[in-house]
Amino acid sequence: MTTAVTDPAAPVVDASDGLRLIKPAVRAQPAYTLAVQPATRKLNQNEAPSDLEPELKAEILARVAAAPWHRYPEFVPRALAEALATHYGWVADGILVGNGSNELIQATLSVVLDRDDAVVAPAPTFSLYRLLTSVYGGRYHPVPFGPDFRFDVDRLIATANEVEAKAVVVNTPNNPTGSVLTAAEVLRIVEETDALVLCDEAYLEFGGETVIPRLGDHPRLVVLRTFSKAMGMAGLRFGVALAHPAIAREIAKAKLPYNVNLVTLVAAEVVMGHADTIARRSAAVVAGRERAIAALRQLPGLTVYDSAANFFVVRSHAMPARTLFARLLDEHGILVRDVSSNAGLEECLRISVGTDDDVDAVIAAFTRLYGETTR
Ligand code: PMP
Repeated sequence: MTTAVTDPAAPVVDASDGLRLIKPAVRAQPAYTLAVQPATRKLNQNEAPSDLEPELKAEILARVAAAPWHRYPEFVPRALAEALATHYGWVADGILVGNGSNELIQATLSVVLDRDDAVVAPAPTFSLYRLLTSVYGGRYHPVPFGPDFRFDVDRLIATANEVEAKAVVVNTPNNPTGSVLTAAEVLRIVEETDALVLCDEAYLEFGGETVIPRLGDHPRLVVLRTFSKAMGMAGLRFGVALAHPAIAREIAKAKLPYNVNLVTLVAAEVVMGHADTIARRSAAVVAGRERAIAALRQLPGLTVYDSAANFFVVRSHAMPARTLFARLLDEHGILVRDVSSNAGLEECLRISVGTDDDVDAVIAAFTRLYGETTR
């Protein structure tokens, strides 16, 4: 029989016979997705504002060209493991690499969660934590932030103990609020609960305090880092988990073998060798963030929140966030993230810090828009 699959124009059969096999908790979750929208200034995904330097790319490509493509890559080439261990200040056998840190969030939750196990996380935060908790059959308990998006550590701990959480997930600096936990606060969560604490430090190069130096004292602590932000490698997908070596070995069982490809492994190693370049780029982003925040704070009709990340949140009082989003895009070519549908983020947009030129454009656009509405 020829089937509809070969003819894209043919009607597709009703899917209910397949869908009944999908777990209800998964079907209840919205998919993690983002529509691609062309824009002159793309400030919606917290990426590095400019590409890797041409010399760096050339070095990566030359090394990839010289490597054998018909062989499986090493899980982690020795030199890369050592460079990561030195860079982060942790032992090489307590380091796991993944195809993006997303994969390591997935692997960690998958080895921890059984059906109905509880996960506690602040809200609002990175939406993947909730989605993956549902995929693994867990129960997700969001804990709201306090005033000005401050972490409510007491309530996180109390909730984790109340629901007997298997895992507490915290992201510092937090996406999308930019708020931070101190290392001491992360340790309090570890010490005052029985949960595994997954501390996602995706934006740590831009501010906040890492808890990595305390990993040696705490086998219930797992730290995540990514090469998608400060390292400028979002397109190549590379993330790192750091934990007690015994815990790292267990998480590794949930990762697919050879899932970090040769190109990415080589690129990560080359980028690790240019830590000074990375530090310089991160410092420029931090300076741009502070400049943007200070300038936008001069405008009436807008609350601009502090941030330790490569993005910041504004709350619009003078016009609806949806209108502001559309006008930034249509009139100024600036694409930001409309986060206003999240509880606690009413009328808020999240803006990634771009190049100096992007920051100038953001300041000019807001000055035009808020000058107009408040006249
Ligand atoms: N953690 C957080 C908090 C993030 O915001 C993101 C990216 N949006 C990630 C992890 C994913 O990073 P990666 O590209 O390494 O998968």
